Amino acid sequence: MHFVLIKKYSRTVKIVFTILLLFGMLDLLFPLPEQKEYSKEILANDGTLLSAYLTDDDKWRLKTELAEVSPELIKAIIEKEDSWFNWHFGVNPVSIVRALYSNFIRGEKISGASTITMQVARLLEPKDRTYWNKIIEVFRAFQLELRYSKEEILETYLSLLPFGGNIEGVKSASYIYFNRSPDKLSLAQSIMLAVIPSDPNSLRLDRSSEEIIKKRNYWITKFKNKNLFVQSDLDDALEEPVETNRFEIPTLAPHFSYFVKKHFNKNKISTTLDLSIQQTTENLLLRHVKRIFYKGITNGAVLVIDNKNSSVVGYCGSADFYDDGSFGQVNGITAIRSPGSTLKPSLYAHAFDNGTLTPQMKLADIPIDFSGYQPENYDLKFYGNISAGFALVNSLNIPAVSLLQNTGLTNFINLLKSCGLEEIQKQKDKLGLSLILGGCGVTLEELTRLFSSFARKGKLYPLVYDESDFEFQDGTEIFSKASSYLIADILSGMNRSDIANLNNYSKLPRFAWKTGTSYGKRDAWAIGFNPNYTIGVWMGNFNGRGSPNLSGAEVAVPLLFDLFNAIDYDADEKWFDFPEELFSRQVCSESGLLPSQYCKKVINDFAIQDKSHNEVCNIHKPVYVSLDETVQYCTECLPANNYNKIVYSIYQPELTVWFAENNYNFSSPPPHNRSCNAKFSEEGPRILSPTEDYEYLIEENSGQEIVLLAASDGRVNAHYWFVNDKYFAKTKPGEKIFLKPETEELKITCLDDKGRDESIKVSIKYY
Ligand SMILES: [Zn+2]
Ligand SMILES: [Zn+2]
Repeated sequence: MHFVLIKKYSRTVKIVFTILLLFGMLDLLFPLPEQKEYSKEILANDGTLLSAYLTDDDKWRLKTELAEVSPELIKAIIEKEDSWFNWHFGVNPVSIVRALYSNFIRGEKISGASTITMQVARLLEPKDRTYWNKIIEVFRAFQLELRYSKEEILETYLSLLPFGGNIEGVKSASYIYFNRSPDKLSLAQSIMLAVIPSDPNSLRLDRSSEEIIKKRNYWITKFKNKNLFVQSDLDDALEEPVETNRFEIPTLAPHFSYFVKKHFNKNKISTTLDLSIQQTTENLLLRHVKRIFYKGITNGAVLVIDNKNSSVVGYCGSADFYDDGSFGQVNGITAIRSPGSTLKPSLYAHAFDNGTLTPQMKLADIPIDFSGYQPENYDLKFYGNISAGFALVNSLNIPAVSLLQNTGLTNFINLLKSCGLEEIQKQKDKLGLSLILGGCGVTLEELTRLFSSFARKGKLYPLVYDESDFEFQDGTEIFSKASSYLIADILSGMNRSDIANLNNYSKLPRFAWKTGTSYGKRDAWAIGFNPNYTIGVWMGNFNGRGSPNLSGAEVAVPLLFDLFNAIDYDADEKWFDFPEELFSRQVCSESGLLPSQYCKKVINDFAIQDKSHNEVCNIHKPVYVSLDETVQYCTECLPANNYNKIVYSIYQPELTVWFAENNYNFSSPPPHNRSCNAKFSEEGPRILSPTEDYEYLIEENSGQEIVLLAASDGRVNAHYWFVNDKYFAKTKPGEKIFLKPETEELKITCLDDKGRDESIKVSIKYY
């Protein structure tokens, strides 16, 4: 008895084992076909479909996830196709028997019995309907059930179902037939999508709806008897009108979508784009371009970065992607343009950090010749002795060029390279001091990202487009917290020249910004930031044409204000935390350096702990003078009595010359005692023009002259000029004299009345 049972049992084991072995071998020999290629999808940060792209075989085949589909649709499809789907193992024995019966005994055509899993097998590997192929489908169904979960099988099914033409999957169909995502379908629409795949070539919702309505209602009636749905909903569904239509798959944020598609090799990209910020930005940009179109400015681009995590939340590459007339398909965010003055804040931040500069320190804004390069200010004026903060917020050019020269061009280029400015990296050997006035190439993306580092405590972070990249974020410190704070503080002041034509804003948040206008008025920039957002605006023409009306202040700032007002409207007045390393200190009001005992007035300045210099003011010096202040004495010629000790402001010679030329009211010490014979060992005259080692181009026989000009300190009364060691002329310090050069090489010497001299060499080229 036992023996028989064991024997019987072992026979069963053998059979099962043999079947399993056979299946295993077949599984190895005939592996499952590969998954199909799906349409690339770009999603906004709330999951909204921004854009999708045709597959290589030109299909709209959007991968459908169960969570994206209305539960009614899933219920309807399972109920219609395979109501035992969740319980069977790939095939349904009951329906197979039923199908065999009807096919063989009643002679009907091969139909039915296909489970959803078997249908997936057929969708992955389309074949004719023969008995042999049916057997293959059964085998494939087992394979699928072994490898994948029910959810995965159902998702593949929903993604591959045919809906006529090149439409595959319920998600594609939902967008193309109903212009909505598959979780927003009505019950009637869900049932229609369950019905169409059984005959997708005749049930074309983009051609006629009659047949579909018939089928839909047939199934609604069927469902009514089964109590699967709320009865009244089914009643409503019966009445729901159907329109024939074919919508386009969404193409929202087209520049953004293309950019993301190109840079991220993924099928479905959940991006960081905020649809409401994006739409606000698009509307404001388009409106703004229409407003300034008459000025000859036809396009613009805007990038919005969320400073919490450096994610891109708004991205408009052009005002209207579909406007060919203004080259709307050019992406202004990645285009290489001249930055105008927008790199200045980085230079100032760098100088604050290397300790050579503080906000109240004075810089000279006077005509200076940088080896033949003579920059001018935007308004063609010069401002004389101004603070670094004033120079930055008013974007003065000469102080910026001097600062760059003092900082070292290479140092600054290295900093910009480390900030990921690629074109600058490429051009590095060709760049000169004009770099700081826009003589280089950058993109709006690079610039906006660079500015966002001021908002992120001096750390530069990679921009995040793909939500899954958040965890890999790591910033590089390019500025200190303190210098970033100073830049934000200086650039958020409203007392400045680049505010023009502004609307009235009642709840405008506080933000810092910098404008830029490139050479030839081709690019207008305004980049702003506050703790919440960094927004970069570029305005211009994609055909490269300039416009006399184009300037950062005039055409980019108003849009920047509108954007902050709309995106960050009524934000709490939160500002950056005051950094620990920053402290307030008193400095001389005229030099911005630490006050000496002779300084007359002190003001507050900020300095960075262990970084900022501790230079003491050297402008204010006591001078011995006659009682009527007409003669200056040195210790050698100081009379025994009848003298005064008076503190004067003694500026650098170039400034003194400029002050005198421009009739500035400044108190300078009287000339030195003429009868004094003391030798001076201090610095002698400084030749301001011509420029040392510079090659002057002069038209032959034109009689063109070059200017000789030198500066000296206040004790010098006369300059004696020598050309090629021959006496040429006598001038007062700071007085210009003209020379008609007669040789190609010139040695020019200036000798002062104290016996000190300076010589320079220049060459003349005739053309
Ligand atoms: Zn002083
Ligand atoms: Zn003297």
